[in-house]
Amino acid sequence: MKKRTDCRVCGSNDLRIIYDFGQQPLAGEFPSEPESIRQARRLPLELAQCDVCGLLQVINLPPIEDVFHDNYRYSSSTVPALVNHFTAYAGWLAERLPRGASILEFGCNDGVLLSQLIKMGFSCVGVDASDNVTELARAKGVEVHTAFMNETLVKEKNLERKFDLVTCSNVLAHIDDLHSVLKSVRLALKPNGLFMIEVHAADALVRDMQFETVYHEHQSYYTKLTLRRMIESGGFAFEECVNTPMHGGGLRLVCRRADSKLKGGGAPKYNRTERVDGLRFAAVIERCADDIRRAADQYGPLDGYGAAGRAQMFVNMTRTADCFVQVFDDSPLRQGRYIVGTDVPIRPFSNKNGKAVIILAWNYAPSIADRIRDHYQETLTVLPQRTVW
Ligand SMILES: [Zn+2]
Repeated sequence: MKKRTDCRVCGSNDLRIIYDFGQQPLAGEFPSEPESIRQARRLPLELAQCDVCGLLQVINLPPIEDVFHDNYRYSSSTVPALVNHFTAYAGWLAERLPRGASILEFGCNDGVLLSQLIKMGFSCVGVDASDNVTELARAKGVEVHTAFMNETLVKEKNLERKFDLVTCSNVLAHIDDLHSVLKSVRLALKPNGLFMIEVHAADALVRDMQFETVYHEHQSYYTKLTLRRMIESGGFAFEECVNTPMHGGGLRLVCRRADSKLKGGGAPKYNRTERVDGLRFAAVIERCADDIRRAADQYGPLDGYGAAGRAQMFVNMTRTADCFVQVFDDSPLRQGRYIVGTDVPIRPFSNKNGKAVIILAWNYAPSIADRIRDHYQETLTVLPQRTVW
C-alpha cells in the first residue's frame, strides 16, 4: 500500500500526523459474507495535516480499483435528503446560468442532479467511474461516460472547451491526484467558464470531531481556506464560497478558469494555517463507544439505522459491532450485505426489536427519527453528542 509523504495540494513535505486510526477496513466495501466467514481487508489509516497550506488529508492510499469498482453501492437518488439537496442545487444553478448553458458533472452518480438540469433545458454530460450507477443515470436519459475525469477522457470524447460550467459534488475529497483532475477541468471549460465544487466541510470534522467521516476513500478534508488554496493552485480564480447543509455541513465554492498562466516552481508561501489538535479524537471515540454500550446494557442488542460508509467506520472505530443485531438501510444496493469487518447484517427496515435504535446516519436524524421513533422505546444518536429523539 502506498503512503503519501507530500501534501496533495501544495507539495510540501511538512505533513504532521494528527490521528492514527490503526488498521481499518474500506468504508465503501459492503461484503456479501459476514466477517466470521470471510475477513475484510484492513489497511492503515492516518489523518495528517499539512503545516504549509493547512490541508487535512489521509496519507494512506488504497488501490483506486478497490475504491470505485463495478459494484459501487451508493446511489444518491435513494437518499431523500440528497435528492432535496440536488433539487435545491439545480435551482441555484438555474438562477446563475444563461438558458441552455452546457454543463459537465463528474462523479455524477445516478444522474440525480443532471436529470433535473436537463428538464430545465440545460445541455448536460456526466462522467462517473462506476458502471452500475452510470447505468442508472443513462436510464434517466443522461449522456454519461463511464470513466475517471482526466485529460485523456476530455480529449478522447471531444469535450475540450465545450462547457460553460463544470461541477462536482462530494468528489474532490476522493481524489488523490488533484492536479490532474484540475487540468482536465480547465481543458473542458470554455475560456472564463465556471467551476463549482461541493465538498464536505472539514469545519464539522474539526468542530464536532466527526471521526467516522475519516476513511481511505475520503482523502482530503477542506475548509474554506484550504479549498480556496486548492483551486488557486490549479489555475482558477476564486469568486465565492458558501455553506450548504449537505452531509452535516458542506461548502460550495464558485471559481472561474483563470486565463493567466499557472505560476510554477517551489511550494507557495502562506501566512496562515488552521492547526488541528488530534487529542480530542480519541476522547470522542471513547465517549461514543460508552454511549452505545450503555444503551445495549439497558435495552439488549440494538438496531442501527443508515448503513453508509461513515456508519461502517463508526462501528469499526468504536468497536461496538457486538452491540448491534442489524443495521437498517433504505438502499437496495446495500440490503442483504454486512457491515464491513463485522457479522452485522444490513436489512430493509422492519421493526421486530422495538427496544432501542441508534441512528448511525445521524446527519439525517430528524427525518429518520420522524419515521421510526414510534416503533422503539428509545431512538438515539450519539454524534455530535448523545441525543434522544
Ligand atoms: Zn499543503
